[in-house]
Amino acid sequence: MSNKKKVDIVIVGAGLAGLTAALELKKHNYSYVVLEARSRLGGRIHSTISSDGVTVDLGAQWIGPHHKRMLGLIEEFGLQLVPTFRTGKTIYEMQGKRKQTNGKLPIMSPIVIADIMKMKRKIDKISREIPSGAPWTSKLAQQLDKITVAELIKTILLTKAGVSFAKLLIEEALCANVYEVSALDFLWCIRAAGSIDHLLAAEDYWIAEGAETLINRISDSLGETIQLNQPVQRVMYNEKKVTVYTGKESWQAKKVIVTTPPNLLTRISFDPPLPARRVQLSERAGLPSVIKLICVYERPFWREAGLSGTAYSDQTPVKLTIDSSPLDGRRGVLTILIGGDSARQIETLPLKLRQIEVKKALVRLFGEKAAYPIAMFEKDWSAEEWTRGGYATHFATGVISQFATSLTSPVGPIHWAGTETASEWRMYMEGAVQSSERVVHEVIHEITKE
Ligand SMILES: Cc1cc2nc3c(=O)[nH]c(=O)nc-3n(C[C@H](O)[C@H](O)[C@H](O)COP(=O)(O)OP(=O)(O)OC[C@H]3O[C@@H](n4cnc5c(N)ncnc54)[C@H](O)[C@@H]3O)c2cc1C
Repeated sequence: MSNKKKVDIVIVGAGLAGLTAALELKKHNYSYVVLEARSRLGGRIHSTISSDGVTVDLGAQWIGPHHKRMLGLIEEFGLQLVPTFRTGKTIYEMQGKRKQTNGKLPIMSPIVIADIMKMKRKIDKISREIPSGAPWTSKLAQQLDKITVAELIKTILLTKAGVSFAKLLIEEALCANVYEVSALDFLWCIRAAGSIDHLLAAEDYWIAEGAETLINRISDSLGETIQLNQPVQRVMYNEKKVTVYTGKESWQAKKVIVTTPPNLLTRISFDPPLPARRVQLSERAGLPSVIKLICVYERPFWREAGLSGTAYSDQTPVKLTIDSSPLDGRRGVLTILIGGDSARQIETLPLKLRQIEVKKALVRLFGEKAAYPIAMFEKDWSAEEWTRGGYATHFATGVISQFATSLTSPVGPIHWAGTETASEWRMYMEGAVQSSERVVHEVIHEITKE
């Protein structure tokens, strides 16, 4: 192994959190290096281009009107936002029945609508009791962390149709089954987003050039300070300094910022070992299963049938579809999300059979023309060695109240970032940027104190 190189700060991970942390450190004239395990930048952001020039996002894509940091970056790096196509009817497929509606809610009886509205009010009210930077300190933490989201919505909602509808929307937003996630985790996400309506409607825009173009432009502005194919394997530290080892090189620094999803922390060996609570948290921090699939068609044929391209379904495998056609309409692009148990069922099939299953579901939703995409792209995020799922970590019952207290607490010179540590828009790109803002402030404060 070559001699140790020296910088002020080592950043582990070149996802959005790592790169925006680097951007901020550069502005403050600190020296740094970003060490990335993959052979590409972006982490959970990854775009590709079809043979006829259509850009598709295989990972994170959408941005909401409240994502002020993301909107700022998009402007700073000269990218174009496309409003998500919403003209026409949305399809809701629940319990074998298909409904189309022009409004935000499927056609339901006034009793069911009142039930859902009451649930939203109640959930917003409870979420306001949860501090978004430290949910474990809430007086409701223990109680809410004992029940799943499934139990929470069942206690609040009085109608069966209300429960089915809430489950449909929440499972898509969390990318997990409601029985897998603690109610405290869900309410924390709502608090971090501002309200349940914000959380359920964060898909208003996407980046015309693809989200990865943002990553590439940030990295171009950083210069030669990012190292790909450098999985961090070992971190040795004391109160004064830290040495970070990859298989090939080692770096000595005053501080290290770790931005990996918390589940992957278990792949790094720390010397001395991290506090037990921090390790146990990582061991309980798996990401839900998710497959993102994109079908490119000759044209957006669903628009001609008066459909917006948005469809929610509780049937396997397709959970959500959204129109992501280029602005000039030269091709039709349907983005498809398959999460939770649907993803686990379908990922065992060979690619061809998987695509057949998806096309069958699309035909059910949009008609025969959906069977004939001219191209299909797919990424199974659970199979990605350096992510292992998506959209982001959700904790099962008992974890946040017992273990998450250590989520953002620095350990000596080691500081934590990444969307999972965000207090605003946790799980989203916006959360990744907010976490880097917080961690850079923290690190600079510590260094200037020394
Ligand atoms: C399918 C999917 C769809 C999504 N859709 C949206 C969306 O529409 N809108 C939205 O806002 N968000 C969305 N998200 C969530 C969004 O992608 C994340 O919130 C955000 O990108 C997380 O950024 P991050 O930097 O915190 O983590 P990551 O992007 O995971 O970056 C962490 C980096 O650390 C690297 N790494 C891991 N271990 C090591 C190691 N030992 N050494 C060195 N490097 C290491 C990883 O390779 C990775 O590059 C989606 C996610 C997925 C998977």
